[in-house]
Amino acid sequence: MNLIFLGPPGAGKGTQAQRLVQRLGIPQLSTGDILRKAVAQGTELGKQAKSLMESGKLVPDALVNGIIEGALAEPSAANGFLLDGFPRTVPQAEALDAMLRRRGKRVDAVVALEVPTEVLVSRLSGRFTCPKCSSIYHSTTRLPKADRLCDNDGAALVSRPDDAPDRVRQRLLEYEQKTAPLTGHYNRTGSLRRVDGVGSVEEVEQRVLRALGIS
Ligand SMILES: [Zn+2]
Repeated sequence: MNLIFLGPPGAGKGTQAQRLVQRLGIPQLSTGDILRKAVAQGTELGKQAKSLMESGKLVPDALVNGIIEGALAEPSAANGFLLDGFPRTVPQAEALDAMLRRRGKRVDAVVALEVPTEVLVSRLSGRFTCPKCSSIYHSTTRLPKADRLCDNDGAALVSRPDDAPDRVRQRLLEYEQKTAPLTGHYNRTGSLRRVDGVGSVEEVEQRVLRALGIS
């Protein structure tokens, strides 16, 4: 199965993607990992990407697409893969469709985890971290034993400015605006599977599997 996973920050995409690739025995291909690997291996495209990244420039679509195509051609991806972080735009999605077509393949399903904004805001905005040991706490799901103090070392917990509710809402809005054209594309191709991401990890996993026709 050739899959793409989409989901806003806080939707539990990482957890669900990990469970799915384990169950299906397919590799999870994340754009960041693929780029880093190409750079480390010193492939021709990897070298080009490295010099761009080192000079602080954006790696252009054509180069990213080429590196992704190389990863899709690897034997480990022959029986399926789960793409994470790619495609991000409609032109990238069209390039992916074309490179899969050349190999006689296609995107079988695009899983879009959906969670209401206010649920995401409460999940993301209640976070506190320990400046000493980096432990993460949460105002509703994982409170420290003593108010605002780390269980491990007693350090005063801090919240990141990015986790303030209005900043979280802004991040989610930006994600929505960036992703809407992509979900529109996959809705038109018939591969979009919208999955309700509210509930326990197990409940959401069952919905993902049903959406893919696996259970
Ligand atoms: Zn600590």
